Amino acid sequence: MKKKKMIALVAHDNRKKDMMEWVSWNWNEFVPHSIVCTGTTGKHVQDVLTDRCHEHDIAPPEVIRLKSGPLGGDQQLGSMIAEGKVDMLIFFWDPMQPQPHDVDVKALLRIAVLYNIPTASNRSTADFMISSKLFHQEYKPTVKDYSTYIKREVDL
Ligand code: PGA
Repeated sequence: MKKKKMIALVAHDNRKKDMMEWVSWNWNEFVPHSIVCTGTTGKHVQDVLTDRCHEHDIAPPEVIRLKSGPLGGDQQLGSMIAEGKVDMLIFFWDPMQPQPHDVDVKALLRIAVLYNIPTASNRSTADFMISSKLFHQEYKPTVKDYSTYIKREVDL
């Protein structure tokens, strides 16, 4: 991944307040990067970053908004990760409430592990990630070589 990263931000409804506080606190860390979000999270992230950047006369970073999570946004994000278009995922999922799209949430978390992208599910981990010196440097995650996977022997 390059110095300029594509950072995915997603928060379930009960975690959106947490996410917006965290984004507002760390607004300047996002300025050199691009951001991709599920629909509703993206609306709030865009508002917070626009306000904070305008206070300091700085152009806000690009925020790409996908569909809302329950409408396929998590799957769109998973597809972007599989295509190597997302460098890290900060996903404040709700540990206290089942979601209508739980299977999509699980799929997104699985694909993030498969492609070894840095992933945070809570604020402490997100704090460690954003304060890492790697956050603004080039970094190449090692990904297991699955190139022989589709050629494996299967009994038909
Ligand atoms: P939302 O989706 O940002 O559109 O609320 C998040 C999610 O539920 O995965």
